[in-house]
Amino acid sequence: RPSRRSASQRPEVQLSFEFFPPKTDAMEARFWESIDRLAPLRPRFVSVTYGAGGSTRERTLRMVSQIKGRSGVDAAAHLTCVGSSKDDVNAVVEGYKEAGINRIVALRGDPPEGVGQPFTPHPEGYKSAADLVAGLRRIGDFDISVAAYPEMHPQSLDWDADIDNLKRKLDAGAQRAITQMFFDNADYLRYVERARKAGITAPIVPGIQPIHSFKQISGFAAKCGATIPDWFAERFEGLDDDPDTHALVASAVAAEQVMELLDEGVTQFHFYTLNRSNHVLALARLLGRRVS
Ligand code: FAD
Repeated sequence: RPSRRSASQRPEVQLSFEFFPPKTDAMEARFWESIDRLAPLRPRFVSVTYGAGGSTRERTLRMVSQIKGRSGVDAAAHLTCVGSSKDDVNAVVEGYKEAGINRIVALRGDPPEGVGQPFTPHPEGYKSAADLVAGLRRIGDFDISVAAYPEMHPQSLDWDADIDNLKRKLDAGAQRAITQMFFDNADYLRYVERARKAGITAPIVPGIQPIHSFKQISGFAAKCGATIPDWFAERFEGLDDDPDTHALVASAVAAEQVMELLDEGVTQFHFYTLNRSNHVLALARLLGRRVS
């Protein structure tokens, strides 16, 4: 079991951390404080999300442009194509390029009505994430990540369609997939097996969501189609008014999740930080990565 080997005897893990663009000065202060605490873990990159339809266009660009200079860590900008023409999206990409950003997380995004609602491409827009990846390739030599869904994307007709779509995105020129949050490792492991059987060889990096607040995360999970298993929910039952126990249980379940994945041979992890550093610092340490 790799988790029981000393650091020098186990494979080195690669980490990436996802942030969202802060809205207020106080949130921005917390964003930078977390970047400062997490940068010494030497992540492969730190990514900043993009409001579908471009609602955070300026803020995403501003944050990603500053990360490298302030922390020395590579930054990846998320980008969605929903609701925008190709020209609009390409202009954002040119902005990233000018700011020296060469990593992009390429996504379709969801219509304003929410996930699960039918997606209608902009008449002059990219039609899917795969189409967007192909467009990015024409503009520059980007390192591209795409999304993957261990429980299947809510709009996929079946597993074959879901995995075919992932393959299309990777074949169009993406280097890796990062998964949606999931809480049962069996879902992720089965998904990777399906992808490998379909000939996908690129890394499928698990997206790990530490539970800062069970209530908040269950809301996010419901919106994006990630299941919270009963056994998982039961662990947090009755803890809404007991923040200390909630925090300890949250650390324990996240530790269990990443250590199990490490023992399954996973060596790349993407953490949804929600702009906080505490859980991630502890989890990285368990994975053998310390602040240097
Ligand atoms: P696609 O890969 O294009 O696929 C979506 C669905 O459409 C799939 O079911 C696929 O099978 C189907 N499909 C695709 N092409 C076709 C076709 N030609 N015909 C029929 N069906 C087709 N959202 C944001 O708004 N901002 C973010 O910053 C953001 N970051 C994310 C980061 C990660 C790691 C993940 C996992 C998700 C993120 N999302 C973000 C959410 C994402 O935008 C949604 O999940 C969205 O619903 C799908 O985007 P996609 O890139 O996976 O789309």
